[in-house]
Amino acid sequence: MYSKNMKYLNDFAAKELILDIGRRMYNRHYIAANDGNITCKTGPDTIWATPTGVSKGYMKTEELVKMNLDGKVLQQGALKPSSEIKMHLRIYRENPGVQGVCHAHPPVSTSFAIAGISLDKAIYPEALVNLGTVPVVHYEAPGSQGIPDSVAPYCNDYNALLLANHGALTWGESLMEAWYRLEALEHYAMILMYTGNIIGKANVLSCEQVQELVKIREKLGISTGGLPPCCAAKASNLTDVGVNQEIPGAEGKAQPSAAGTTAVNTADIEAIVQMVLKKLS
Ligand SMILES: [Zn+2]
Repeated sequence: MYSKNMKYLNDFAAKELILDIGRRMYNRHYIAANDGNITCKTGPDTIWATPTGVSKGYMKTEELVKMNLDGKVLQQGALKPSSEIKMHLRIYRENPGVQGVCHAHPPVSTSFAIAGISLDKAIYPEALVNLGTVPVVHYEAPGSQGIPDSVAPYCNDYNALLLANHGALTWGESLMEAWYRLEALEHYAMILMYTGNIIGKANVLSCEQVQELVKIREKLGISTGGLPPCCAAKASNLTDVGVNQEIPGAEGKAQPSAAGTTAVNTADIEAIVQMVLKKLS
């Protein structure tokens, strides 16, 4: 949340954090070659930005570019800022409480962006509390002015977006928060892919369970992220699931097996493995 007394990272800390997040993005395969961009705000009208044409896994401090929120370069290394920095600048201008923005092409969330499927299933508490729902904004050519314009309406109510046929974009009150949201986004997308396309089943949280999570989110001071439209009227996840049947009288309690671990149905695992192998072949 914006306040006039906001504290910012100093130049040194901001540049170190951008380099660190660049390495994490690259090592996790969220980007390939020279993809992606990262920015960090260091004052009401200054940011540090990643340059164009360099792998974010191998950046050097002296390659980073200092800019103001109008896009004027204040201090430039050997390389120019990326053309995609325009969408970062727009987020900072629309929402002065934002201090960090990350953009990457993580494979699973980018696949959802290509399919035009928003991430809004109420199935996973952590995603709902820390990330919220993730809309897909319509396609605009990478680096074009169309992207900042398409992103603008979402900057104050959401924490992340999928850019159609392009990739993922997250922001936060700190660059670290923006990075964690990118991680959370790809993780959520992966879980949606497994439950929806490989396992083929998900118990959707009930409206009551979603409301409980929204209260937790409010207590954490998070007012952004939207609400999932598709929670179930009745909870379908309150019964323990035994080997071949539901265990009578076990509602809401964990049922350890004789060996002290949760019972696992090997036939189910075998069926899932076969489905995965079929999908991959
Ligand atoms: Zn991109």
